[in-house]
Amino acid sequence: MPAPNIDTIVSLAKRRGFVFPSSEVYGGLGSAWDYGPLGVELCNNVKQEWWRWIVYERDDIEGVDSSIILNRLVWQYSGHEATFHDPLVDCRDCKTRLRADKLELPVEATGSDVADLIRQKRVKCPNCESTDLTEPRAFNMMFRTTLGAAAVEDDPTALAYLRPETAQGIFINFLNVQTAMRRKVPFGIAQIGKSFRNEVTPGNFILRTREFEQMEMEYFVKPDAEHLKLVDEWVEHYLEWFKGLGIRSDNLQLHEVPPDELAHYSKRTVDIMYRYFPERPEEPRQWEELMGIAYRTDFDLRSHSSKAVDEEGARLNPDSTEDLSYFDEATKQRFYPHVIEPAAGVNRTVLAVLMDAYSEKTNDKGEMRVILKLSPKLAPIKAAILPLAKNKPEIVGMAKAIKRSLQPVLRAVYDDTGGIGKLYARQDEIGTPFCVTVDHQSLEDEAVTVRDRDTWEQDRIKVGDLAEHLQNRLKE
Ligand code: ATP
Repeated sequence: MPAPNIDTIVSLAKRRGFVFPSSEVYGGLGSAWDYGPLGVELCNNVKQEWWRWIVYERDDIEGVDSSIILNRLVWQYSGHEATFHDPLVDCRDCKTRLRADKLELPVEATGSDVADLIRQKRVKCPNCESTDLTEPRAFNMMFRTTLGAAAVEDDPTALAYLRPETAQGIFINFLNVQTAMRRKVPFGIAQIGKSFRNEVTPGNFILRTREFEQMEMEYFVKPDAEHLKLVDEWVEHYLEWFKGLGIRSDNLQLHEVPPDELAHYSKRTVDIMYRYFPERPEEPRQWEELMGIAYRTDFDLRSHSSKAVDEEGARLNPDSTEDLSYFDEATKQRFYPHVIEPAAGVNRTVLAVLMDAYSEKTNDKGEMRVILKLSPKLAPIKAAILPLAKNKPEIVGMAKAIKRSLQPVLRAVYDDTGGIGKLYARQDEIGTPFCVTVDHQSLEDEAVTVRDRDTWEQDRIKVGDLAEHLQNRLKE
């Protein structure tokens, strides 16, 4: 049973130290969140799993870590300055800010122009039902900043942006990576990092925030590769990866983005959707994008290249000093590689993983317990070492020594802040796969009890065998 709604996860996340509302001591900052001691571990584990899977386990992908602030020209030639807009609408009555493309249109008018419908007063504000809405106006979602100490606020020569995607940092490094690593197309470049979008309507916890983290990979292929089929292949790879993180397949769904909704660079995009809103009665409204896989053509490499020309032979980019084309030794041809891009969000993955791992179980006393059935590879803590009696120095000493001996091989913690029942419940709720209990008997037989999070079954294990035992079971 996954979490019944996002709110269940919001309260668990705060109570147990995964995610806190940001700037809370000053009343918060809309839709900004801070990751606590367990949240940072979970995020790191998701990122490590991805990096291992995409960079280490394959032989055709390199990693990079590019700057967040790039030359402004990057965003001019990528098309973001001109097109990275959301259509913004204001309700004149209740002052709510809305996205025109997310407004509910009258059924008979589906497909009509939203601006026309707003003018005809046929669209209602979802907050107060008023039809007094402003016409949509383009709102650029890139955060602006100024570079340099002397720069005045509106100096256009000092204008810079916080990146709204990590992808451009990969494209502008295509040639650097290809030549330094002596790569032949096809190959990919992966990057994990923060991106920033001044979202008009952020919300739903960590699903849509203005600062978030992406795991993007640009896979460079030949111009005559089977691009559309490659999109399907990457969709399949990612479905398997998400399932490997413990996400149930019936909570995943594909969405083929209709041609009129494609981003300016995309010829085809398939979104992998997760059921973030299981409580909504209408099944189509239960889904939101977890990640997207796009065929970006050769748009980006051409746009950033000094020699690329348009149909009339005019240079596309008079500012670039590099030509990002590739020379294929085998065919003696020069071309701009085409790109398949799987773009996933760390935060949306973390939310999906938390929702899917959530379960409830009733104990012998009829009390409801929450168990977070996280995949062991994602669990923030792999083993909690608990002394049965915290006033017995020998037991405490032994438990602390076991914690220290396990730490080099797996993330372990020592906890004596409550009775054993409470300690077990707390570890279940944060997804710790194993609790190791040190009791009076342990002092004599050098053995401990290992309790399984999901079954609550207990095994007696010799301390000398403990590390190997836990490591094997964590792999199951
Ligand atoms: P949406 O349609 O939900 O705004 P998008 O299609 O604009 O998303 P992409 O540009 O494809 O998103 O970005 C790739 C991934 O980055 C998304 O699938 C998502 O996981 C993550 N992402 C994008 N915007 C946000 C955000 N505001 N907050 C958290 N994650 C985000």
